[in-house]
Amino acid sequence: MNIPLVDLKAQYATIDREVQGAVRQVMERCDFILGGAVKEFETAFAAYIEVPHCLGVANGTDALHLALRALNIGPGDEVLVPANTYIASALAVTQAGAKPVLVDVDAATFNMDVAQAEAKVTGATKAIIPVHLYGQAADMDGVMSMAARHGLKVVEDACQAHGARYKGRRCGSFGEFGCFSFYPGKNLGAYGDGGGITTSDAGLARKIELLRNYGQEVKYKHLLKGYNSRLDTIQAAILKVKLARLNEWTLARRRNAALYDQLLSGIREIGRPRYDAAADFGHVFHLYVVRAVRRDELLEFLKTRGIFCGIHYPIPIPRLDAYSDLGHKKGDFPVTEKAAQEILSLPMYAELTEENIKEVAEGIKAFYARR
Ligand SMILES: *Cc1c(COP(=O)(O)O)cnc(C)c1O
Repeated sequence: MNIPLVDLKAQYATIDREVQGAVRQVMERCDFILGGAVKEFETAFAAYIEVPHCLGVANGTDALHLALRALNIGPGDEVLVPANTYIASALAVTQAGAKPVLVDVDAATFNMDVAQAEAKVTGATKAIIPVHLYGQAADMDGVMSMAARHGLKVVEDACQAHGARYKGRRCGSFGEFGCFSFYPGKNLGAYGDGGGITTSDAGLARKIELLRNYGQEVKYKHLLKGYNSRLDTIQAAILKVKLARLNEWTLARRRNAALYDQLLSGIREIGRPRYDAAADFGHVFHLYVVRAVRRDELLEFLKTRGIFCGIHYPIPIPRLDAYSDLGHKKGDFPVTEKAAQEILSLPMYAELTEENIKEVAEGIKAFYARR
C-alpha cells in the first residue's frame, strides 16, 4: 500500500454526494460567474476567519497581487517577503510592478525573521508579506509592531494556514489583507483553482470587489482598470461543502502531527517541527516538515517502501533563475539555504491512518539503522 504526500481521493470519498449535489445545483441555476454560491461561501469564510469581509478571486497568487494593487503598491516600491516560501509570494509583488526584498527565516519555525526584515526597510519599503508557512502563524506581534513603526502595509500570505490562529486570532485577520489559496492540495482546497481575500476594512473590500471584476461597478461602468479574477461559482459551491468539515480535518491533521512527534522523538537524525502544541490551532499542519540527516537518500529510501515525501522548497527563491535579477549570491540567506538541504515534508492529510504514520516512522528508523 502506497502512502502519498497528500491523498485527495481519500477525502473525496467522504464527501462525494454532497459535492455532487452542490455542483448540480450550480448547473441547474446556471449562475456560473459570481453566482449565489460565491456570495454564500464568502460570507461563511469571512465568519470562519472572524473578519467582516471576504472576496473570492481566481487563485492565491491573484489574491496577493490584487491586495497589493488595492494598496496602490507598484513600480518603485519595495515589499518584504521571506526567502523560504513558495515563489508565488514573490511573483505577486513582481506582478504588481514592485520589487520583492527577500528576508531570511527563523531556524526554528522557518517563518520570516522579523528583526532581519526590519533591517532591510528603506525609504521605498511599502509593505510586508508575512507567510504563515506550513500552517504555522508567523511572528505577528513582531510583524505588526515593526509595520507600525515604519508605516508599512501588512498583506498576510495565509495560503497554507486556513484556520490557523496566532494568540487566539485567526491568520488572515491581522493585516490590511489576508490572502488564501484554495488550490486542491491546500487545507481547504477546491476542485480546481481558487483564492480568497479577507479584510476588516469595508473600503478595501469594495476595492477588491471592483479589481477582481474588470474594475466594474455596474455592468459597463468601469471605475478602475481591473482584472478578470473571480472565484468560480462551481468551486465556491464545493468550498462551501468542504468548509463545514475544515475544523474536523484540521483536528485530524493535528492528531497525526502529534503521533509523528511521538514516534519520531527517539530518532537523533530527525529534527521535529517546533510549535506550541497547546495553542489552539497554532499550527494547522498543511505540511509536517522535519529536518533530516542525509535527506535526499532518506527520501529515495522511503520511496522504495511506497512512502512519498516532498521538499518545500528545494530551491530557495534567491537561487531561482526567475529571480537572478535580484543579484543574490550563495550565503546571502544562510538559514534558508541550510533548510533547503535538510527539510523533508512527510505524508500529511486528515485521512492518514495511525497505521500509515507508524509505517512512515518505521521506514525512517529502518533507514538510519542501516550500516
Ligand atoms: C499555494 C501558495 C500560493 C499560491 O496560491 P495559488 O492558488 O497556487 O496561486 C501562494 N503562497 C503560498 C505560501 C502558497 O503555498
